[in-house]
Amino acid sequence: MAYVRDNKENMINHLQNIIPSGIHHKIEDWYSTYLSDRSIFMEDRSQYLAEVEELVEAMEEFKQDDNKLYLANRISFSLRKIREKNILNYLSARNILPKYGFPIDSVELITDPSSVETTFGQGELRLQRDLMQAISEYAPGSQVIADGKLYTSQYIKRPPQKVKEWDEWDFVQCENPECGHLNLHRHYPGAPTMDKCGICQHALSQQKVKTMIKPEYGFIISPEVKKAGSKKPIRTHRGDIYYIGEQKELLDERSLSIGLDLKSMSNDELAVVNNSQFMVCSSCGFSEVSSDFSKQKIKIHNAPNGRKCPNETFTRKSIGHTFKTDVTTLSVNDYLSWEQAYSILYAMLEGLSKAFLIERNDVDGTIDYIYSRSGNSSTRFILFDTVPGGAGHVRRLGKATEEEILDVFKVSYDLVKNCHCDENTACYSCLQNYRNQVMHDSLERRFAVDFFDRVFYDYEKFQINGVK
Ligand SMILES: [Zn+2]
Ligand SMILES: [Zn+2]
Ligand SMILES: [Zn+2]
Repeated sequence: MAYVRDNKENMINHLQNIIPSGIHHKIEDWYSTYLSDRSIFMEDRSQYLAEVEELVEAMEEFKQDDNKLYLANRISFSLRKIREKNILNYLSARNILPKYGFPIDSVELITDPSSVETTFGQGELRLQRDLMQAISEYAPGSQVIADGKLYTSQYIKRPPQKVKEWDEWDFVQCENPECGHLNLHRHYPGAPTMDKCGICQHALSQQKVKTMIKPEYGFIISPEVKKAGSKKPIRTHRGDIYYIGEQKELLDERSLSIGLDLKSMSNDELAVVNNSQFMVCSSCGFSEVSSDFSKQKIKIHNAPNGRKCPNETFTRKSIGHTFKTDVTTLSVNDYLSWEQAYSILYAMLEGLSKAFLIERNDVDGTIDYIYSRSGNSSTRFILFDTVPGGAGHVRRLGKATEEEILDVFKVSYDLVKNCHCDENTACYSCLQNYRNQVMHDSLERRFAVDFFDRVFYDYEKFQINGVK
């Protein structure tokens, strides 16, 4: 930090050498913004320092008590992990460096448990997914068919020896219907309780606080590999996408005449959390979908290496992770059912991808509801770039004129209006795709047809009368 501050001239010279001369005049401004207290860089830096300080304090406190030395020890491993993070990975995860082209969020379902402790052999079957998909597809209990075999995921892979601790987060959704913010805090022994919502200060229910493991080291299969039959593999779990949305970097905010409110943000935050809960052995990572509400359970089991695991106590955990990306939201002042909203959302995403020539998998979305004090509720479509850090796709929609947005909607409309499937369903030619499989039964293309019909009608009316 001091280096960046003290070597301003030097740094600017370097930057001039690598940046096109047409924007040289902007460097100085950018430099001071970067170092100002409110820049993302400085904010992340103070967040990082605060987190380290908090952990150090908790560790020092546990050190005073001989019976709690083991807790101090656990925190020291978390601290080491945070302190020794690769700076490039850290900066790109925080969206300070572009992440495009660095698939660092990709994880593996390891199909050869014997290879876990050695390096992975060349030419072996490798099942890989980005973390967002892996959270639903590779979670313990899920099955995957590959090479004619049926694999069942069983373990959340433990961090390597020198790291020892998973990254874990306590989380709870605010119950204030006007807010619904997902509150998160790093989980460690003695972590402070989250008693108030960070956005609206509403009291948070402690019974609802859950802890999620970020499965960044991947998953390992159960040794029982079957031959793939005609049965569909089990995929019991859905990855729920939460919009954390602190909207610190608002790029645009406006009301459209077609009855939608638009907001566009860069560097906004989302969380993907598997909607099942798991009982997890913290010693070897053995995990099972939890079928009741108990906090702990006892089970004799084997570690991935096939030997009996020394630990028999399982604790309840969720699986999830958070990421930063570009987000554009469109809210409609109306309560739409879950099925309606998702049908419309996927039509919007298809339209966006076709109209702007964006790979469909590079954008995704989720929905939520906002309730106002006056009793009104609105439905919010949250569209985001799946590339962590954002690739500028939904940002284009955020910048688009009303006519351009209508053009996108016309593409969406044509797709849902002219599809040949039953209008009370959807198919792979209209709204369905591989990634939204868990939603297939809920999608009906007529919901999207009705919605866009109304949008176009409102627009015509606005053109004629000039009123909304
Ligand atoms: Zn709240
Ligand atoms: Zn175990
Ligand atoms: Zn269809």
